[in-house]
Amino acid sequence: MKFFIINSGSSSIKYQVIEMKTETVLATGLVERIGEETGRLKNTFLPGTATQRETVLEQQIADHYSGMMLVISLLTDKAHGIIKDTSEISAIGHRVVHGGEDFRESTRITPKVIEALQRNIPLAPLHNPANLDGIRVAMDIFPTVFQVAVFDTAFHQTMPPRAFMYALPYQLYEQDRVRRYGFHGTSHRFVAGECARLLAKPLDECNLITVHLGNGCSMTAIENGRSIDTSLGMTPLEGLVMGTRCGDLDPAIHLFLKQNKGMDLEAIDAMLNKESGLKGLCGMNDMRDIHQAVASGDARATLALEVQTYRNRKYIGAYMAVLGRVDGIVFTAGIGENDDIVRAESLKGLEVFGVHLDPEKNRLRSKEARRISREDSSVRVFVIPTNEELAIAREVANVLRG
Ligand code: ADP
Repeated sequence: MKFFIINSGSSSIKYQVIEMKTETVLATGLVERIGEETGRLKNTFLPGTATQRETVLEQQIADHYSGMMLVISLLTDKAHGIIKDTSEISAIGHRVVHGGEDFRESTRITPKVIEALQRNIPLAPLHNPANLDGIRVAMDIFPTVFQVAVFDTAFHQTMPPRAFMYALPYQLYEQDRVRRYGFHGTSHRFVAGECARLLAKPLDECNLITVHLGNGCSMTAIENGRSIDTSLGMTPLEGLVMGTRCGDLDPAIHLFLKQNKGMDLEAIDAMLNKESGLKGLCGMNDMRDIHQAVASGDARATLALEVQTYRNRKYIGAYMAVLGRVDGIVFTAGIGENDDIVRAESLKGLEVFGVHLDPEKNRLRSKEARRISREDSSVRVFVIPTNEELAIAREVANVLRG
């Protein structure tokens, strides 16, 4: 059974074809610069195997429909493709950023679901229309195939009001649904499931703190397998210090910037999303560059690292207080999976709460899920690689079974 996983952006389509029996990736690729003068498609068949084959096409790609058709012509190519025709695709999974309060779970796509997605556009004005483009095109091309929307927000719909409400006038929630939604839900859910397996405990008996540190960063408090609090908010700007996003901020800084720097709201929003975070602090947003700069004595890079890991520590402490008992802390995504220094700094001083990292295990590099805490650590610490496409595919399989 082969699933097609689609992550459609405003000018891009990321995709994978996964054979579900073995959970192997048959093809992975990215269509970029859709609508620009020259578009680009990079496709890799059987990635990571001895027979890996890579194709790059550069040509104009007018819209998402043309982009998808180009992908399909590669996948079904007589000489090199991995499927005979589109009927080999049993189901399609779409990543959707914002499901608002309408979606607590991954959902089969119907006209009603598309309507609800449209209703939620104000909550994610950049992402949801792009996700909808991908859905519409796939519905056109694969009208009879089972298609599922998998939401970044759905896992966090179990948060109680005390965690998701902002202390703002209540009618903003009633009328406009202004509240915390949280994101990266597919990743938090996936690594929580893997962690339960490593703990040899049912997920619904696990209390976990999952720490997703990539370009975007977020942390989730998971009680008995359910998200009860998370650091990203109504938009993916709140919480931890990210690559270019500021995370938590005094909201009055908006007014200060307007009054003292003559910035309008759009300029402030662009600055907080694209010029802040690690990049704002030290000019770099890739953690590997930051470590190099730290090693050569760059004080601002050192500061950026400290600000990020201090914020991580503060949130871990807060979520330990919220959960009481914590079975495991899980690090995942680009930084979380690869950066032993960030992990160690983020847990520094937490020994008093029963968190004891094993420095050697922490330093060891591996692509495998693994425990990095000492045997006697009452809170176990894990590194678990996230895999968003596989997580989406498993969600699709669940919906299909249901
Ligand atoms: P995204 O949020 O875009 O999915 P990723 O999870 O791929 O991002 O994480 C990307 C970030 O991971 C990079 O910006 C970089 O800072 C960090 N990263 C990747 N590899 C390493 C590494 N070996 N050491 C430290 N940081 C790394």
